[in-house]
Amino acid sequence: MFPTRYRQKRRFDTTSEPRGEDGAKRRGRRAARFVVHKHRASRLHYDLRLEADGVLHSWALPKGPSLDSSVKRLAMQVEDHPVDHASFEGTIPQSESGGGTMMLWDRGTWRPDEPDVAHAIEQGELKFSLAGEKLRGSWVLVRTGGRGGGRDDRTWLLIKHRDEAASEEDIGETQPCSVATCRLLAQIAHDEGGDVAHAASADPPAAVQRLIRALRVGNGATPPRSGIRETPAGRRRPTKGATRTARIPFRGVPMLATLSDRPFHRTGWVHEEKYDGYRILAYKEGAHATLLSRNAKDRTTSFAAIAADFGRLSPRTLLLDGEAVAFDEHLVSRFQLLQKGHGPIVFAAFDCLYLDGHDLRGEPLGVRRAALERAIAGAERIFPARRLAGNGIAALRIAKRRGFEGLVAKDASAPYVSGRSRRWLRVKVTQADEFVVVGYTRPTGARSRFGALLLGSFRDGAPLYVGKVGTGFSGERLESLWRRFRPLVRPSSALADPPRASGLTWLEPQLVAQVGYTEWTADRKLRQPVFLGLRDDKSPAECALPGTAP
Ligand code: MN
Repeated sequence: MFPTRYRQKRRFDTTSEPRGEDGAKRRGRRAARFVVHKHRASRLHYDLRLEADGVLHSWALPKGPSLDSSVKRLAMQVEDHPVDHASFEGTIPQSESGGGTMMLWDRGTWRPDEPDVAHAIEQGELKFSLAGEKLRGSWVLVRTGGRGGGRDDRTWLLIKHRDEAASEEDIGETQPCSVATCRLLAQIAHDEGGDVAHAASADPPAAVQRLIRALRVGNGATPPRSGIRETPAGRRRPTKGATRTARIPFRGVPMLATLSDRPFHRTGWVHEEKYDGYRILAYKEGAHATLLSRNAKDRTTSFAAIAADFGRLSPRTLLLDGEAVAFDEHLVSRFQLLQKGHGPIVFAAFDCLYLDGHDLRGEPLGVRRAALERAIAGAERIFPARRLAGNGIAALRIAKRRGFEGLVAKDASAPYVSGRSRRWLRVKVTQADEFVVVGYTRPTGARSRFGALLLGSFRDGAPLYVGKVGTGFSGERLESLWRRFRPLVRPSSALADPPRASGLTWLEPQLVAQVGYTEWTADRKLRQPVFLGLRDDKSPAECALPGTAP
């Protein structure tokens, strides 16, 4: 049965590695997959994994593969791994077998010279060719058969055949990053809650230096050390800028996450706390700071303290994406506190689009995030959005425990694009969402003006009725809401499926309410809804039923 030895060595409540499907046999003559993991466990090594007979036959390479056909590299055969391990990248707890950081260093397809792979392994000689992104051409694995020899000997050698793909290039040094996410080991450990220093010690120092230099380019925050000028050719900074106005050459619409209807984990994705705040794009041009809402309304004076702090940062031009937030006593952001102006308002920054003359939108998230952390060094009211450790499932557990609204899962290799994207996905813990106000009921009891609000949510361009909310209003709020409703009264319902009841007043679907609730009922209504406030920064068309496009 499937890799008993693989499973015996792992505790799946601790590690995020895949369990492996029982009897997952792959048939047919299509080219099978291969991967090479770069694995920083107690020692750095590479793991070559070849898919055949429903498993990944695996060899650990202490020195990695060599492209030089005159070099023989030691390859220790290890337990077969499940085929879904071929997409694993992340951290493995130190308590587990192989604890440390694992990078997907290469991947592609492979073909054995002889079709019977099991027989070739038994015979101790496996000739094959690789079509990967880094490793290509013809190779051979031979069992050394050394002392005692025989079939139990797990010591093999990996040798490159002399062909066009052979070379003297030290590929471990020249191509140190992940094929899946372009990250170094240190970045993977950082993003996924691992031991960064331990992982970084296995990154080539030159690559780490290159990364740091790339992040420093144009960043006025870092003074040149010991008189060495770091001014890469072709990327000169506007040194006469003191007299010129610094400009950011574009104004943007923020990147928006798509609502996911269930928790998930994907290799190469990172997870951030979901803040319950007010989305802001912050533009710094010289000393001039402008804070714009999602729909490009100027909020600089509404969040003056953030604007002042932002304007004092060292980069000359800077564009950050984030949320203005207010925290409760448990350090959980609450939109209601922000609205009431309770407590200090701060800025959770999660992206950097532009920095000192450089448009970073095409860079992967990992690079933008590192630039962001440098750019806001020294800020008082601006901090980097919190990353949640572990895989998507573990991260959601943390979010639940801490009482966050949810998390935003992001593809670490994705560029920044304006508008709704599926490479940012929102996963919710507490249910609070925006709904369009489509009407109200007659006042009851002591309440004046109206009883409850009728709510809708869009599907296929038309609002569907999702229930009414009658709690969460104070007397004064009731009055001001009612004044905003009056001009919107219309004779008939905008809903595709209006409820049948008397005493209803219909409104143009123009106002957006944030409403908390416990769950959706089977007939698609909100259970125990509570009114939390109106949202002027969202448009009615964005109020979509979960799992559907607005
Ligand atoms: Mn390993």
